[in-house]
Amino acid sequence: MSRYKTFTIAIPTDADGFVGRACDAPGCKQYFKIYVPDHGDYLHCPYCGVRFSRNSLFTSPQLKYAKEAAIEEARVYAINEFQKMFKNAFRGSKNITYKPGRQPTKRAVRPDYVEREVDTEFHCAECSIRFQVYGIFGFCPGCSCENLQVYDANWANIKRKLDTEPDKNRQRRHAYGDLVSTFEVFCNRKATRVSSEKGNFQVLFDARKYFKDHAGVDMLASVTGNNLLALRRVFQKRHVCIHAGGEITDRYIKMIPEDAKLLGTKVVLTVEELETAATAMRIALGVLVKSIEQPG
Ligand SMILES: [Zn+2]
Ligand SMILES: [Zn+2]
Repeated sequence: MSRYKTFTIAIPTDADGFVGRACDAPGCKQYFKIYVPDHGDYLHCPYCGVRFSRNSLFTSPQLKYAKEAAIEEARVYAINEFQKMFKNAFRGSKNITYKPGRQPTKRAVRPDYVEREVDTEFHCAECSIRFQVYGIFGFCPGCSCENLQVYDANWANIKRKLDTEPDKNRQRRHAYGDLVSTFEVFCNRKATRVSSEKGNFQVLFDARKYFKDHAGVDMLASVTGNNLLALRRVFQKRHVCIHAGGEITDRYIKMIPEDAKLLGTKVVLTVEELETAATAMRIALGVLVKSIEQPG
């Protein structure tokens, strides 16, 4: 007989069939959900890309539940085993009769948590997995694809929030920030393919220089005219919104001399500019996808 007894405890899904996961990579530690029937044996964190087995990255409330449920299974199993053991031991004995007590009943162990609400659900066209994330993500947890589909999903999410948030100004500010974050996450992923050196991908021309130096490719080669201007403005406007209370600074004018007469005024954020920049960004990231090999 084995020295160990294994109990399998299923982690309950939410009402839509998703189970939460908590990445344990340092610097990430973020929460996401995956639709259970879609699981393969290995998954990836959609934010940082760490690969993990389907039987890991459970959240602490899930583990607490699993432990309690396993203890209850073990309790009932142990009582049954003892009863069997005594029955066998006293079988045929004239002096002692063993009368087992009542069959133990399993107490229902229910999770004392609910999975968190996560704002956005995606369905990967490459591997068909369904997953839910908070905000910007880097790639699909099922196939880890890091192509333009990931960019498109993030942009669709930014646009969806633009339409639904009642405070338009606040939402535009977030959308400018989210678009730059999408770029940053995407570039970080591609950068790991070409160099161990870190890049500053919150700055458009630093990103361009990085990939020129490390991959020999100019990601902005075919982004010109108004498209390039909109893209440059989105990066700089995001910067002044975060660091200068939304006011056009000298630093901004140095980066966008076209806006020199706007020095000291409040920055203007428009959906049109954001859309033009998003199109330009897609072209720039498409250049990276084409020129930097995906891992085999
Ligand atoms: Zn992660
Ligand atoms: Zn996928």
